[in-house]
Amino acid sequence: MDLNVQMFTGGCKSQADFDVQQILKKLRRISEKVKIKSGLIGWNTDIDISEILSYLKDNGAEVYLWMPVFSELDEITDFSPLTGKNGIIKINYDRGNDESFNFCCPANPDNTDKVISVFEKYYSSNTYDGIFIDKIRFPSFIGGRDAIFSCYCDYCKKNFDIPDPREFSAIDPVNPLGISKYSNLRYDISEVYKKLFDYKDTAVFNSIKRLCDYFRSRDMKIGLDLFAPFVSCFVGQNYSKLMPLADMVKPMLYKITNAPAGLPFEIDVYSTAFDNDSENAKKRKSLLTEIVGYEDKDFISREISGIMKIINDRKLKTKLYAGIELNYVQDISPVTKEYIEQSIENIRHSDGIVTSWDLNTTPDNHVEYLLNVW
Ligand SMILES: [Zn+2]
Repeated sequence: MDLNVQMFTGGCKSQADFDVQQILKKLRRISEKVKIKSGLIGWNTDIDISEILSYLKDNGAEVYLWMPVFSELDEITDFSPLTGKNGIIKINYDRGNDESFNFCCPANPDNTDKVISVFEKYYSSNTYDGIFIDKIRFPSFIGGRDAIFSCYCDYCKKNFDIPDPREFSAIDPVNPLGISKYSNLRYDISEVYKKLFDYKDTAVFNSIKRLCDYFRSRDMKIGLDLFAPFVSCFVGQNYSKLMPLADMVKPMLYKITNAPAGLPFEIDVYSTAFDNDSENAKKRKSLLTEIVGYEDKDFISREISGIMKIINDRKLKTKLYAGIELNYVQDISPVTKEYIEQSIENIRHSDGIVTSWDLNTTPDNHVEYLLNVW
């Protein structure tokens, strides 16, 4: 298995409390035992990371710029926003680390052009081997039902046939999406939601294809940060469509993280998005987790097998690097020794790991637990 490390330098305009020397110490420690395949680092625009880039390159690792796409960059450019039936969608979620969860319209090519402009203005001077793009999606249920019923901007209305929210009204409160089955990483789902999510898949694919064409023209490799398959279906990420574009994909298999992309978090926001009835929310949660087999011991392993099956069936060269959280954030990612050890066992049949999502906030002992089981 390959080992890749991920490092968060802060939001566009707010540097993280990022200790370059501590990072170098951890990178050296890892390198004593395992050759680092690549480092993914971003996305503060001011911080000096030249020592880290040099260390990685001198030790034969590739360096990817970690850059968000449809959210976050609104701090440094003006996007055309994601729009619901009642206007611009705002996501009220703050986990206190300057990450923003507001989204622009992922379909509009003007927005992908602006992503490219941001890259050229702020990031193109460092010599990166690749780009690792994040937030390549629509918002999840974090913004409630209204955020899922999107995007109704002028561009989307003109170019896509998106169901009207009124068509979603006759729903079963316990199974609002009408999910009957989860197999091969996709749901059998009600016709109207299928139409909505198919539009999102197409919109995200078209935009990511444009971006990838651009980065390929700069001779850069491509990595994609993706939701775990069973939640990717809700946000416009279709593994079959997206994987052929990439050299590597990182499904975020954050089974212990109570924050966006964390599996318990995304299940909870799905469960509570439809009404204020807490009994219904409990039933929705147990129905969804039962359909996907979330509580099964081999759930993560099966999600990985599903992705590997696509790679093998289609003879893709794309690498699957499982995103496992190793950092410790109180109340958000309470990672333990047992969790790290179990996670490595779960991903043995993947191509490797991305130690997520931040080496800076990964305690030294977590690095040791990882190296011990590697
Ligand atoms: Zn739109």
